[in-house]
Amino acid sequence: MSESSLSLYQLSRHDLEQQLCSWGFPPIHAARLLKYVYREGICSPREMYELPAVLRGRLEDALTADELTTCSEIQSSDGFTRKYLLGLTDGCRVETVLMHFRGRATACVSSQVGCAMGCVFCATAQMGLVRQLTAGEIVQQVVHANRVLMELGAPQLRNVVLMGMGEPLHNYDAVMKAIGILCEPAGLAIGPRHITLSTVGVIPGIIRLADERQPVNLAVSLHAATQEERAKLVPPARAWPLDELVTACRYYAEKMKRRIFFEWALIEGQNDSEEQAATLGTLLQGLPSHVNLIPLNPIANYDGLPTSNPSAKRFQAILAEHDIPSTIRQRRGIDIAAGCGQLAVETPPQQRVACLSE
Ligand code: SF4
Repeated sequence: MSESSLSLYQLSRHDLEQQLCSWGFPPIHAARLLKYVYREGICSPREMYELPAVLRGRLEDALTADELTTCSEIQSSDGFTRKYLLGLTDGCRVETVLMHFRGRATACVSSQVGCAMGCVFCATAQMGLVRQLTAGEIVQQVVHANRVLMELGAPQLRNVVLMGMGEPLHNYDAVMKAIGILCEPAGLAIGPRHITLSTVGVIPGIIRLADERQPVNLAVSLHAATQEERAKLVPPARAWPLDELVTACRYYAEKMKRRIFFEWALIEGQNDSEEQAATLGTLLQGLPSHVNLIPLNPIANYDGLPTSNPSAKRFQAILAEHDIPSTIRQRRGIDIAAGCGQLAVETPPQQRVACLSE
């Protein structure tokens, strides 16, 4: 690790302890430093008065604590959802969403700028993959959401979902490092079981999660129960076919002894028929699972519409007949472009310029 490029949010506790030792300081100071940063919101070493003065000076010279800039912020009309377009140091922008409802706060963060996966109903897909996020940039989004909660006088953030822009398993190492930093007991101390990683079905990543016994929740975006239908909605299905994906999910569930969440964007006339519900019910037999049914968030350049409430309920009833538990998710924040990538794609150019020049 180069001393001149110590990015604060990129450092795990282990990284920090190693750095302190290399400077001749006891590693115990790492925990205090993390408490300053993640619990008290103090990022300037000058203000970390409980650290020795000579260490504060050393940190001051070596650490950078780049903050994300808020390019745009919108709030849903029900007040429960806030969506942020956050600027990175190179001018790229990512979306972060804070959902705060009945004392439960969840941050939905991005793992990439854009996405290479090309799902037809997703605004982020229209950007293509611009670049991977670093672990520090993923962590910073959570820090941003937590700061908003602190300013609102709300309890600390407890839940994180990696369901924003990007495919987390296509940026595996950075995502796992970020999760390690978020779970650090001296820092934000988010429980791994309060973190959910959502994938479109990147089979090698699912196998790796199981083999490494990563203790986070897994959500798999399924959207169709036959290979032919799925390949139309989710192009990666051509590389990772449905039967192999379900086999990988069974491997994961068996090895981890955990259920898997399956996401299903309900699109009127496309994947919401009784027949598809029955096919899904059969496909998931014997696999510990929970299906989240999410009426589609309409986007520009895709003419799919959300399934009506009665159709969603009928779909759910058929899953129940197959003993598959499911939830129909409320489309909270539909009025603030709640689907991932919508704000980034739809933000007017003048706002982008304002962000880049900040
Ligand atoms: S739905 Fe997720 S995986 Fe698919 S293109 Fe959008 S961000 Fe990528």
